[in-house]
Parts: sequence; C-alpha cells; structure tokens
Amino acid sequence: MLNFDHAASTPVHPDVIRTIAEVMQVHNGNPSSIHRNGEASAKLLERSREVCAGALGGVKPEEIIFTSGATESNNLAVKGMLLGRSDGRRHIVTTTIEHASVYESCKQMEQLGFEVTYVKPQLDGTLSPEDIFAAVRKDTVLVSVMHVNNETGAVQPVTEIGRQLKKIQPHVRFHVDGVQGFAQVPLDLREAGIDLYSLSAHKLRGPRGVGLLYIREGITLFPLLSGGDQEQGLRAGTENVASIVGAAKAFRLVSESRTERAAKMNLLREQIIEAVNQHPTLTVTNPQHPSPHIVHFTFPGLKSEVILHTLEGLGAYVSAQSACSAKTEKPSRVLLSMGRTSEEALSGIRISLGDEHEAYDIQQLSKILHQAIDVLQPLEGRKR
Ligand code: PMP
Repeated sequence: MLNFDHAASTPVHPDVIRTIAEVMQVHNGNPSSIHRNGEASAKLLERSREVCAGALGGVKPEEIIFTSGATESNNLAVKGMLLGRSDGRRHIVTTTIEHASVYESCKQMEQLGFEVTYVKPQLDGTLSPEDIFAAVRKDTVLVSVMHVNNETGAVQPVTEIGRQLKKIQPHVRFHVDGVQGFAQVPLDLREAGIDLYSLSAHKLRGPRGVGLLYIREGITLFPLLSGGDQEQGLRAGTENVASIVGAAKAFRLVSESRTERAAKMNLLREQIIEAVNQHPTLTVTNPQHPSPHIVHFTFPGLKSEVILHTLEGLGAYVSAQSACSAKTEKPSRVLLSMGRTSEEALSGIRISLGDEHEAYDIQQLSKILHQAIDVLQPLEGRKR
C-alpha cells in the first residue's frame, strides 16, 4: 500500500521509537517528584526542552512548553491570550483557512463575547498581508495565521506579516500554527516577529499525542488546565516524558535535514503534478508558494470520499480535507473561502509526501491515478 497521506500523520522514525522505548524501560519517575528517580525524569524533560529550543533556531528553553499536540497548543495560544484580560481588549484577527483547532477556538471565543475578524485568502489560497493589517484594530489582542495550509499546501507570508505587524501595531501578539511548515519550509521565529508558535510531533516522524507551544519571553497566557504547576503553570498534568524525549529527537532530526528533504520532495511534487495534469477533469490547486510536501487537486462532480476510496482500493492512501475534518462530508471551508464553488469544495483531494517516497512510488501513484480515472470518469459523466 502506498501512503500519500503524510500531512495527516507520519510513520515514527526508527531512532525515535528506540529512544522512546529506552526511556520507558529505564525512567519511571514522575518529573515533579523530588527524589532521585523523579529528578532523572526531570533532567530528561529539561534536556528535551533544550533540544527543541535548538531545533527552533536557538530560542530559550524556558520559552517552550510541552502539550498533547498542536490542537492543544493552538487552543492555549488563542484562548490563553484572550481569557482573563483586564485591559478591555477583546478582538482577534485570524483567517478562514486555519486548522479547526484555531478556527473553532475563535468561534468559541465569539460565543463568550469576544470579537473575531476572519480574513479570506486570495484565489490561490494565499493570504495578503495588507488584508491582515487592514483587519487589525486598536483593541486587537492577537493575530493568528498558519505557516502552511494543511489542505492546499499554500505557504503563507508569515514573515512579512509578523515583521510589519511589529512595526505598525507593536502591542498586537502574533501566533503562527507551524504544524505543516516546520519540517519543510524554513522560518526564523525571531525575524518573523512570532510571539507564539505551535508544533506537533506526529507530523514529522515523532509520536502522536505530543506537541509544543513556543511562548516568547514576557508573554503571559491564561492556563486552560488547572492543577499542578507543571510547564510553568501553563499546562497542569504529569508530562509524558518518554514521548517528549522522542518528540524532541524528531524535531531535531527534521530541522537538521530540512533543506535536503525539501529539495527531494520538490522534485517528486513536480512529478505528481505532471501525473495529475494528464487528466483534464482534474484541476491542480496552484498556490503562489507551495509547500514541497502537498499536491492538492479537485475533481468537480464527484465527492472527495468516492475518489479517496477508489484510490485506496487501487493501493494508495490520500486525504480529502484535513484528517481532523475528514468525516464531516461538508464542502471544504478552505476551498469555499478561496472562491471555489461548493461542487469544487466537495471534491478536493490532498496527496502528501513523506521521507520514504522515491520516484518509483510516484510512477506507481500515477498508474493508480490512471486506473482511478477510468473508474470514476463514467460516474462523473452520469451526474451531469
Ligand atoms: N494545525 C494544523 C495545520 C494541522 O495540520 C494539524 C493536524 N491536522 C493540527 C494543527 C492539529 O495537530 P494535532 O494532531 O497534533 O492536534
């Protein structure tokens, strides 16, 4: 079976599996315990924080807290900035193309009386920095924009947005969901004026259920979990030490190999686009700056689910919308906000690359695509 769904999750790296197993076998102390067994676990945790800080380009280890994944990191960034404020500022700027963990957090904040402006992308799925700046108000607390869109693969101009924002509205904090960008697209957090940055380990060959939130020094957040004072009081609960050590290793490995991996994926991506373009019924989504690991296309007239299962039956896993929204069967919010019709927005398919792919796999995928079109084309014709 070919796995072209790495944007949903990735196979854990063998070195990471080994590390996790070793830590689990040897270290069973609670990192908050003050005896030696606990201290050994605490040391591993702090070492992991240093490794992550290095992988994030040399930020301070104290600027990182570990979470259960990017969903939690995004919730904490958005809600933690808004809740418990006493300065009367109640507005947030985000976009219509964010992952559900940002988008739905904003929707929830609206129910609590906060105000949100959702900026739409341009036709190719890229946000215009000017549109973001135009949405910022005097009472804006936070701007939240993702680095790479998880459906279309569009790389967003976060460096331009963050830099300019710091100049024109220095009181506004800037959050970036870095989940789909970190492994393939370089980003300097300081240069981009980023105050909060979310990552997830399972998107880059780490374990599922671990993530981090970078919180620039000096920024205070309202904690969402009450309990012990782990993770600087921002995330109560005993840390998942073994998985965190494994996640730190995965973050380090991808940060060290980003350039070569992206170059290889870019070549494979071109080959996939060529294969898709051979079928006039399919339309490749062409962002101005695409991430190396994602190819997105639409097949208007057919539902994504039907296309996805046909491809699966022929030997390839792909995705429809993001994995978290895959079971909704609604038109893609991302595609609709790019000005696509609901027919198009119901028919999106995402092919996403991983480290194991070689040119041979793309040839196989291309054959599968041909076979799938032979099966699907008559269905599409019948619907018209
Ligand atoms: N943001 C983006 C852009 C994502 O693609 C995902 C995963 N679908 C998330 C956040 C959520 O990450 P996690 O699975 O770690 O909760």
